[in-house]
Amino acid sequence: MNHTASPDRYNNKGLYARCGRSGLKLPRISLGLWQNFGDVDCYATGREAVLRAFDLGITHFDLANNYGPTSGSAEYNFGRMLREDLADYRNELIISTKAGYKMWEGPYGEWGSRKYLLSSLDQSLKRMGLEYVDIFYAHRPDPETPLEETMGALDHAVRSGKALYIGISNYPPEMTQRAADILKQLGTPCLIHQPRYNMFDRWIENGLTEILEKEGIGSIVFSPLNQGLLSDRYLNGIPADSRAGKNRFLHKKQVEESLPKIRSLNAIAEQRGQSLAEMALAWVLRLPAVTSALVGASSAAQLEKNLNALNGLNFAPEELAAIETALKG
Ligand code: NDP
Repeated sequence: MNHTASPDRYNNKGLYARCGRSGLKLPRISLGLWQNFGDVDCYATGREAVLRAFDLGITHFDLANNYGPTSGSAEYNFGRMLREDLADYRNELIISTKAGYKMWEGPYGEWGSRKYLLSSLDQSLKRMGLEYVDIFYAHRPDPETPLEETMGALDHAVRSGKALYIGISNYPPEMTQRAADILKQLGTPCLIHQPRYNMFDRWIENGLTEILEKEGIGSIVFSPLNQGLLSDRYLNGIPADSRAGKNRFLHKKQVEESLPKIRSLNAIAEQRGQSLAEMALAWVLRLPAVTSALVGASSAAQLEKNLNALNGLNFAPEELAAIETALKG
């Protein structure tokens, strides 16, 4: 039976922000399905997080062809939720997917060729049981394929009705500018950039945000909690069920090395009356160029707590300075 969504889901008016100079609004906190939604994970737990997110007004779910593990399984599982729970709500959902990383064997299974991107998009639609995605991304820059070809494939995805908007992910500043110029000429503007951004990884502050603001491109920043490091998850050791405990993309050594900084940051968050995760999310959202913070969650409860970040978005100059000092160690 289909899920009956909460009638209060749009009561949090401050949740939505315009994505660049487009017509599309996105929730300031969005849910990504990179980890925790694959076929190695518990389907019921993932389903609960997705449905809770939607009930709380989080309309945007971010996927990619290779999310899992195994590759493709997050899209497949999300497709099942769409079919079995959210079929009545397609018009209220912003669903994104991407292609760029290795998805299948041979010369057409990764990077940025027209052949790969458009074949992969067809496969993603099939796995999710969708006629179109809302946003289709080139997942990473390809140093060998002409940018005109990659951008031409994105433009084609929109013209063929398989995507409503397009985006780029992990593109450095100069390539972002060129991509924006090409897309403008093609008549399909770049909606959004998806870069990594958190207190430990600040590369977007060196030129990218300026280009995004100038071009009217929004951004959704991934790993805003640095995969969970910027939370209370590791303050008292490494839980076995955590990402570092499972040694999945986050490793014990990284946790141990960053602990002193995490403790100092946690003290600043406490003084602000926030959890460290809430402060870390508010911190990425302080930049005008950042439309949405793209979080992951291994439970509905984590996701729900993260939304509280929106109750404390402002930083006093002294708090920002204290964060800089803590990050220097
Ligand atoms: P985060 O930095 O938000 O890390 C999420 C993890 O942090 C969770 O799985 C959980 O870890 C922990 N966590 C979340 N909330 C809390 C909380 N309140 N308290 C304690 N721990 C918490 O983001 P991700 O690294 O997961 O990335 C988010 C999304 O970004 C992805 O799903 C994907 O959509 C996108 N992405 C895009 C990339 C790209 O190249 N474009 C690359 C990587 C991600 P635990 O599992 O230990 O509970």
